[in-house]
Amino acid sequence: MIPGKFDYTRPASLDEAVRALADGGEDAKVIAGGQSLVPLLRLRLAFPELLVDIGALSELKGVRDDGDSLLIGALVTQDEATRDPLIRQHCGLVAEAAGTVADPAVRHRATLAGSLAHADPAGDTPAIMMALDATMIARGPGGERAIPAGEFFVDYLTTALAPGEILTGIRVPKLGPGWGYRYEKFHRTAQAWAIVGVAALARRSNGHVAEARVGLANMGSVPVRASAAEAAATGEEASRDSLRSAAQRADEGTHPPADLHGAPDYRRHLARVLTARALAVASGV
Ligand SMILES: Cc1cc2nc3c(=O)[nH]c(=O)nc-3n(C[C@H](O)[C@H](O)[C@H](O)COP(=O)(O)OP(=O)(O)OC[C@H]3O[C@@H](n4cnc5c(N)ncnc54)[C@H](O)[C@@H]3O)c2cc1C
Repeated sequence: MIPGKFDYTRPASLDEAVRALADGGEDAKVIAGGQSLVPLLRLRLAFPELLVDIGALSELKGVRDDGDSLLIGALVTQDEATRDPLIRQHCGLVAEAAGTVADPAVRHRATLAGSLAHADPAGDTPAIMMALDATMIARGPGGERAIPAGEFFVDYLTTALAPGEILTGIRVPKLGPGWGYRYEKFHRTAQAWAIVGVAALARRSNGHVAEARVGLANMGSVPVRASAAEAAATGEEASRDSLRSAAQRADEGTHPPADLHGAPDYRRHLARVLTARALAVASGV
């Protein structure tokens, strides 16, 4: 199918883009890499009257070292994330997960921010940002605001972004010494979406897990943290047995979907198995 008719603008500055989006109201939409939006337009599941193309906004490009955190610009693509030296050095989980997204052609266009704004709970990037305690930076007609990942994903394909707001970047705290990470993704074929994805971070100290964080993809209508498993792992000896036991609680509080690829119970089982594997690698055991 071909999309319905829409107007198109490609502003040269962020202020201009915010103005165009605000003027367009609820019928205007941002387009970045187009990897989620264009299929929706073609299926006529989305029919905006105006597309605001943010692709020319140089202020949204690149990754900046900002002291204790990195500021990842909204136009940074999944492909760039796999290679960026700052991301690889300080937030390797982002690079590792980005390498599992789709195929090289899609990764060259798809942005991290687009994946977050699209808010598909099966997406890899949302679960990663939950585990990393990232903060989304949004700019709208009222100015700039910061939205913690835990408040950003409101429901299926729905975020806390208000109409007229543009996600300008993602602030990701740097992982200091002692932190390890792992993204475990179970999918039908390489380059397919996650049936379940598990992003784990662990800080090891004196042979124990001092801190653990686990983000889950495709275990509900939004990406979630496996809080019970995190609590169970924290303070425990860093051993495969204790982490496997903590991971038994990975699906607590989740509401996994049923679809062609798996029933909810199957996804619960995957979440437990993948959490044990991911925590083991993140803890270096
Ligand atoms: C074949 C294929 C396979 C895929 N496989 C995977 C996979 O394995 N794992 C995975 O996680 N994802 C996968 N994806 C999805 C892909 O990661 C997303 O489509 C992509 O990251 C979205 O980014 P984009 O820049 O293309 O966003 P767009 O398609 O341009 O936009 C997506 C949505 O976000 C909004 N938006 C975009 N940028 C902003 C912004 N800065 N501020 C406010 N709103 C914004 C748009 O208005 C739109 O609603 C796949 C996609 C395809 C086509």
